Amino acid sequence: MIGTSPTDPPSEVPSRTVHVITHGCQMNVHDSRRIVQVLAGLGYRETPDPAGADLVLINTCSVRARPENKVLGTLARLRPLKEFRPGMRLAVCGCVAQQHGQDLLDRVPWLDLVFGPDRIPDLPRMIRELDEGGRVAATGMDDPEDYRFLEVDPSSEPGPTAFVTVTKGCNRFCSYCIVPFVRGREASKPLDLLVREVRGLVAAGVREVTLLGQNVNAWGRGLPGDPRFADLLETVSAIPGLRRLRFVTSHPADAEDRMLDLFGRLPNLAPYLHLPVQAGSDAVLQRMHRGYTVAHYLGRLERVRRACPDIALSTDVIVGFPGETREDFEATLALVQEARFDGMFSFAYSPRPGTAAARWPDDVPAPEKAVRLAEVQSLQDAISASRMARYRGREVEVLVEGPSRDATRVREGIGDRRGEVQGRSGTNVPVHFRSDLPADQVRGRMARVRVDEVLAHSLRGTLVQWEET
Ligand code: SF4
Repeated sequence: MIGTSPTDPPSEVPSRTVHVITHGCQMNVHDSRRIVQVLAGLGYRETPDPAGADLVLINTCSVRARPENKVLGTLARLRPLKEFRPGMRLAVCGCVAQQHGQDLLDRVPWLDLVFGPDRIPDLPRMIRELDEGGRVAATGMDDPEDYRFLEVDPSSEPGPTAFVTVTKGCNRFCSYCIVPFVRGREASKPLDLLVREVRGLVAAGVREVTLLGQNVNAWGRGLPGDPRFADLLETVSAIPGLRRLRFVTSHPADAEDRMLDLFGRLPNLAPYLHLPVQAGSDAVLQRMHRGYTVAHYLGRLERVRRACPDIALSTDVIVGFPGETREDFEATLALVQEARFDGMFSFAYSPRPGTAAARWPDDVPAPEKAVRLAEVQSLQDAISASRMARYRGREVEVLVEGPSRDATRVREGIGDRRGEVQGRSGTNVPVHFRSDLPADQVRGRMARVRVDEVLAHSLRGTLVQWEET
């Protein structure tokens, strides 16, 4: 395994622009940053305007069917642009690209480049081929033993928060999931590389780091000495100047006691854990190949709540998995009721070609899936509201990210927020408050804020005091 440093810009490079459209998960958002980083070494600047861009790149996700359809729609919308400016290059990368490769290039004649996540370090060669008039499909996967992790360039992460990939791929093969096929086998980034990256980010002003992986707590398998994810958390959390550490996504079967107990021990480990359960019936969990039972899962929650009673917990749920009976679904409702998650991401099952579950009859009718989805969501909405209510009148510690965004005002149906700043609590809830200093001066600072108002998805409060810098 090697770390690849960001490419130094050649002295004489033509100035070109790239517009990146990102679908899907945090991993994709992170990959898009790395793509921009590599392209910067080739003279590309990012532009918010696809119409004027020399390269438009769609970073795709195939975990669910909708994002896959979305990419075909986006390509159709970009077609007239490409016809108007034939010099513009159009690329698709990420999971859909990995899955369909040459096929996608054949189906979409106005597309120039298709490449999978493992091929990001090869962008200089692929761009050269495009410049020579070629069309390129590159979907080979790296050997996990020799995986080329891209090192984050601190200057490409301008804000106070940053993501750092610690594992890529997944060895678990849950029966519904496409990740092992499009992201390949699990590989762990070596500890010395990770520590160097986080130190670099902190030196550049980053205060909060989120460690990323499809199964982040599998980190260490295959590395010399077989270190555990808990070792990584202890090492990274001790880096001076790092105020907050988060990680996502954890697998319940790999959530070891030692890791859960760290929530009670490491002061900068943020009290938030996303632990996808997927279903509340052992029979369904078994068919999903999840590798744990409901009792094991609930035991994980109990353990982490014992270590850190105020921790915020969130989960993922799939309804309508093949063979899911009404009784199975009610077991999911019972689990959601018992677990009292702060938040939940829920989806109706849709088969992903190539997975084990796609070979089984998709036998829960779509209207029934919709009913189950609405039921579980309304149960969770009520629980989320009661979990949010606990913040009223409390003081929370907020890492300020910048001025409050209009999108929040629209979503929450509330008044003007000009002059307010926003950040997140350790429990990952957006918090807004009026700052006594301009937003650009407080970006990256920690504040104690008293919560006056609890909204559906965010909090509004009054500044109590700034943390000394
Ligand atoms: S743990 Fe399962 S659901 Fe998660 S990425 Fe791996 S195969 Fe997919």
